[in-house]
Amino acid sequence: MSDDIPFNKKLDLAPGRVEEVVPGIRRILADNPSPFTFKGTVSYIVGQGDVAIIDPGPDDERHIGALLDAVRGETVTHIVVTHTHRDHSPGAALVKAATGAKTYAEGPHRAARPLHIGEAPRLDASNDTDFRPDQPLAESDVVSGSGWALEAIPTPGHTANHMAYALRGRDLIFSGDHVMGWSTSIVAPPDGAMSDYMASLEKLARREEALYLPGHGDVIRNAPRFVQSYIRHREGREASILHRLGKGATDIPTLVRAIYIGLDPRLIRAAGLSVLAHLEDLVTRGMVATEGAPSIAGTYRLAG
Ligand SMILES: [Zn+2]
Repeated sequence: MSDDIPFNKKLDLAPGRVEEVVPGIRRILADNPSPFTFKGTVSYIVGQGDVAIIDPGPDDERHIGALLDAVRGETVTHIVVTHTHRDHSPGAALVKAATGAKTYAEGPHRAARPLHIGEAPRLDASNDTDFRPDQPLAESDVVSGSGWALEAIPTPGHTANHMAYALRGRDLIFSGDHVMGWSTSIVAPPDGAMSDYMASLEKLARREEALYLPGHGDVIRNAPRFVQSYIRHREGREASILHRLGKGATDIPTLVRAIYIGLDPRLIRAAGLSVLAHLEDLVTRGMVATEGAPSIAGTYRLAG
């Protein structure tokens, strides 16, 4: 989709196989590959003996079975969730039923803004609206267990409730779907919001952790530089949208065709929502005008 971000499209990990990705942290790949999930969701096990599971993944008994096998003889003390998409949080209920561990997350699923009249949550099928954390988390809250401590970093944008977690003393962040090594993150209104997303990237860019362990794809090394390239990529996309509007494009399908060259057809709808996310942000900042609330079927022009 873009060659300005140093993506890593490799992941040598078979579904269900447990691997120590860095000392003291194991990962297991769920078998749910797709154009949105890459090779599948990566679940993490933090610690040894008494452990936390980060993002148990989809409602998939084989994956949950592999996770529970990986921690046989150990005690799961915490289940930590980055956000409420169906490929990340539904497995929490299964792991909780098997282990009795408490669940931790920012909160239940919610939209980033009130719905407009006639609007439905557009990527509804991807949302897990059943999940409710036992313990809601806020900025700087620390969840700690035996030999590890996770600091909550609210990172709204991909979803309103997205939370990244820094592993204290270890120079690494579990970045969920906010920053991934294989692709940009999807920001789709009304569940996601571009202004929030950019602010969350700026927040991570101010941090020093070198290593990110994402919800999809391999480890991201040199993470601060990678985050900068994510920011520049979004700024470039915004510039492209403004450029195309200046040249007379007025609707989202035209913008998508002009900007996303060679796009996988299965991603056209998501690309349209991503452009809508940029337009919402540009309308809020007074740079683009539209009739009424920004919508996927709306017409747009440069303001002023
Ligand atoms: Zn997601």
